[in-house]
Amino acid sequence: MTEILSKKTPKPKYDVVLIGGGIMSATLATLLHEFDPQLQIAIFERLGQLASESSAAWNNAGTGHSAFCELNYTVEKEDGNIDISKAENIAEQFEISKQFWSYLLEKKYIQDPNSFINSCPHMSLVFGEKDAEFLRKRHEKMITSNLFKGMEFSTNHDQLREWIPLIMSKRKENEILAATKMDLGTDVNFGTLTRKMGGFLSEGSNVEIFLYHEAKDLDLQTDGTWDITMKDRLHNHTQHVYSDFVFIGAGGYALPLLDSSDIAESEGYGGFPVSGEWLVTHKPELIANHHAKVYTQATVDAPPMSVPHLDLRIIDGEKALLFGPFAGFSTKFLKEGSYLDLPESINFKNIRSLFGAWWHNLPLTQYLVRQVAMTKSQRMQHLREFVKDAKEEDWELKIAGQRVQIIKKDEKMGGKLEFGTEVVVNKNGTIASLLGASPGASTSVFAMMQVIEKCFPHQLENEWKEKLLEIIPSYGQKLSENKELAEKVRNYTKEKLELDY
Ligand SMILES: Cc1cc2nc3c(=O)[nH]c(=O)nc-3n(C[C@H](O)[C@H](O)[C@H](O)COP(=O)(O)OP(=O)(O)OC[C@H]3O[C@@H](n4cnc5c(N)ncnc54)[C@H](O)[C@@H]3O)c2cc1C
Repeated sequence: MTEILSKKTPKPKYDVVLIGGGIMSATLATLLHEFDPQLQIAIFERLGQLASESSAAWNNAGTGHSAFCELNYTVEKEDGNIDISKAENIAEQFEISKQFWSYLLEKKYIQDPNSFINSCPHMSLVFGEKDAEFLRKRHEKMITSNLFKGMEFSTNHDQLREWIPLIMSKRKENEILAATKMDLGTDVNFGTLTRKMGGFLSEGSNVEIFLYHEAKDLDLQTDGTWDITMKDRLHNHTQHVYSDFVFIGAGGYALPLLDSSDIAESEGYGGFPVSGEWLVTHKPELIANHHAKVYTQATVDAPPMSVPHLDLRIIDGEKALLFGPFAGFSTKFLKEGSYLDLPESINFKNIRSLFGAWWHNLPLTQYLVRQVAMTKSQRMQHLREFVKDAKEEDWELKIAGQRVQIIKKDEKMGGKLEFGTEVVVNKNGTIASLLGASPGASTSVFAMMQVIEKCFPHQLENEWKEKLLEIIPSYGQKLSENKELAEKVRNYTKEKLELDY
């Protein structure tokens, strides 16, 4: 595929150009193509393969984020009640993704669901009396929602030994632990899924994919179209590509491209790159004793995306265990990026936000410095909080993908650091960009539908609505408020995605 695509030359003009070949662009291109197959669409990817950055299997944790196990989505309020509204939103969004992927399978656009999604229980695990009580209260609240029905809770060591034998091995009988378990959880290979969508799109549709093509600059023309300066990195050749609509799906590099567009909506945004590392084992004896994704509480000062977890991964049919992420700092915005990315992103429009965010997040900086300075032996000590007798020779360090957290203007603080994702769109909806990285790939379909809602509102309302409901039958309805629909949708996606729970 690489050779054929790199020999093609882009047309001078498209209806839609998507910059970046990760899960977001592949999803948006597939949706738009399904809504209107006549649209002339081009995807430009700077590397030699789709999904080589954050969407690549080993660059992310592959958690199908459904808020079953991530404790940071549920907060204990001052009155002691647990607020689960954010968790419900995330769970709803993942159900949208599962419906879209089921549609692709139903239509036979892609095959073999277990090559990209597999059942894997999602668990939250906490240590000590106080956190065990929080988890009990959280569980009590969560099972009142349709979306978390079936979640189990236990503090009983025999039960926990059955659920998580590797973690329970060599634990003292008097240690207080509590866990919740949700069998509906999944492990997702977003890289394989992206490439499957790319494979479908490149076969006889009006969607063209260009690898080794890097967008360098974006300029708005007087006629309202976008002029994209595009570099063919293989042949060292630059050309201009024009488009009515542009989506910047360049992952960490979305920020500089958005800035180059000079749209008013991009002002004041900055980026704070956080890299990561995993400890990984392929040892069959360890893998045989751990069949879950087990998330715990973040330590004080740690950003939410650095919550430690011990996960079963299923990548290309092979099982492995992953522990982490350990946060790191690099000035690159992409794993395959440049060390100049951060310094070059600083300008007079965002310097106040950047300084404000840094000043008000000094503990985070200290946390990152401590994490970067850790040796492998020190990282193993953290792993031993989960796996008591983990041996250094069984685990290798792997570099994870790069995340760029959003920094936004803030009246009081100058700037503030955000940990979610945000869709930025200009006022007439001719350009959209996705900033931030969390909850990420799991909610890619919801995020791309937000782009479509904002940029193609008339087409969506008048021409594409029927198709949308064929692709995502529950769209516009709240599964949390409709028990029957929630069950129907989950049974349908369970069958199509061949989930085993
Ligand atoms: C450590 C880590 C763990 C994560 N864990 C999870 C998880 O468990 N579950 C989950 O759902 N999400 C997770 N995420 C988030 C998820 O990986 C991302 O949200 C998602 O992959 C982003 O997809 P994307 O298409 O926006 O970006 P990417 O996959 O990064 O794709 C962007 C593409 O744009 C290309 N590009 C960049 N600049 C240009 C340019 N100028 N011209 C052309 N192409 C360009 C890049 O080469 C890249 O291929 C994790 C992320 C990280 C880093």
